[in-house]
Amino acid sequence: QAGGPKVIIIGAGMSGRISAGEMLSHAGITDLLILEATDRIGGRIRKTEFAGMNVEMGANWVEGVNMDPADKIIKEVNPIWSMVHKKLKLNTSLSNYSHLSSNTYMEEGGLHDESFVQKTINRASEVQQYGDKLSSKLHNEDITVMAMQRFHDHMPYGPTKPVDMVIDYYMNDYEFAEPPRVTSLQSTHPLPTFANFGNDVCFVADQRGFESVVHYIANKYLKTDARTGAIVDPRLMLNKAVKKIKYTSDGVVVKTEDGWLYKADYVMVSVSIGVLQSNLIRFKPHLPQWKNMAMYQFDMAVYTKIFLKFPRKFWPDGPGTEFFLYASSRRGYFPVWQHLENEYPGSNILLVTVTDDESRRIEQQLDEQTKAEAMEVLRKMFPSEDVPEATDILVPRWWSDRFFRGSFSNWPIGVDRYEYDLIRAPVGRVYFTGEHTSQRYNGYVHGAYLAGKASANILIECVKEGQRQKDGANGGIWKYYVPGKYE
Ligand code: FAD
Repeated sequence: QAGGPKVIIIGAGMSGRISAGEMLSHAGITDLLILEATDRIGGRIRKTEFAGMNVEMGANWVEGVNMDPADKIIKEVNPIWSMVHKKLKLNTSLSNYSHLSSNTYMEEGGLHDESFVQKTINRASEVQQYGDKLSSKLHNEDITVMAMQRFHDHMPYGPTKPVDMVIDYYMNDYEFAEPPRVTSLQSTHPLPTFANFGNDVCFVADQRGFESVVHYIANKYLKTDARTGAIVDPRLMLNKAVKKIKYTSDGVVVKTEDGWLYKADYVMVSVSIGVLQSNLIRFKPHLPQWKNMAMYQFDMAVYTKIFLKFPRKFWPDGPGTEFFLYASSRRGYFPVWQHLENEYPGSNILLVTVTDDESRRIEQQLDEQTKAEAMEVLRKMFPSEDVPEATDILVPRWWSDRFFRGSFSNWPIGVDRYEYDLIRAPVGRVYFTGEHTSQRYNGYVHGAYLAGKASANILIECVKEGQRQKDGANGGIWKYYVPGKYE
């Protein structure tokens, strides 16, 4: 068959695009069709207009960057950083969290004593380092990050004081979007993203949007209009929500919500693990029990970036003020704040992050209510300022959105390498990709990018091997090998 077998890719986010593009096209598999449910490409990398400028509703940081030239241990460069920094030259700013001790606000106003907060931060950092060591000693057993804290006699029944809570939140939930009692120690300590690429994180603040990265890759293999730059390749179809995937030993048939049927030899599913856990896409026959068991056990976390626009600035700016914390007696209540004065001077925009249950609560209420809550918090933080009412608010709703069902995956206790491999494993002619299938970097943009490549490679290998075994008993489908649980 000219152009090799036909492959349908479901989803045009970072992973789908990539697996479709660089890898499959490279291997001569050019007969592709990408079906994307929304009216755009990029998925969870998405800019939107807010109060006259573009902000990022989804991914914002390139995480795992090494900005320290003296650090010779880090050898790998995050592939997303190469694209953002070298190829596209997007504006970025290095996020500096080292001043949090002088920017932690009391529940009822005013700043906490710096040395007191610093002590809490030092202790929490020491516990994290202990966690890295303990994790390397665990073999087949895993424990939660909270259990690790107990081993180190750190808040054995959980943090109770506002400062302990907000520092615990900043160190854990702010990264993983779930609390330490959920997160697997072994899979997050040390975190491969920082261990392999470097400890720095760079905030993408560019009016072209972080999504330029996805367009950059797409443009490598999809036809674009030379004048507008828009993708005009018929192999990409937008507004095509897939509702059914029928697979047999001969091929696959994909049905979209608008009633169309698309036939192919293989399908690559790149939708989020949250979507896979919902019943948006029906598989016929049902996916096997081992597959669903593995997928249902993984976590889709929720991370919400709330933007607020003000008529004027009332918060401190200048060096060392970008990030500030609100130490509430309610854990996770409007905890981590960032002003955008470094990136967009004079924009008068604040960004506050909430996660998990707070995200779900906030997604379900009116934005006016969320704004009122945020205003109350700000007026408590700055009691001596005349805090003006925010003129605009933006509350992204990733969890309610049936095409995402959350923001990124978090590795929970109970899933080990074996179950994780099963999440990625193909089922017959159905292949899987997405950040949640990344071998080392689940949850991140670079994870999605590398997972797309890896899954495409699995497909290419299976196709090659299948062709070799064409007359074999399995109808030309090569069985992907998942090492056993105790191998
Ligand atoms: P997606 O981007 O979800 O792509 C899947 C595509 O499938 C989507 O376009 C979707 O519309 C489509 N789809 C879904 N259902 C169907 C269907 N039925 N039919 C057809 N198409 C369908 N990562 C970082 O590295 N740094 C960060 O700072 C960061 N912050 C984040 C903050 C937030 C709020 C969010 C939401 C994510 C963040 N991430 C961050 C994570 C990062 O954005 C993701 O890991 C990555 O973009 C996922 O890419 P993907 O291709 O796996 O999935």
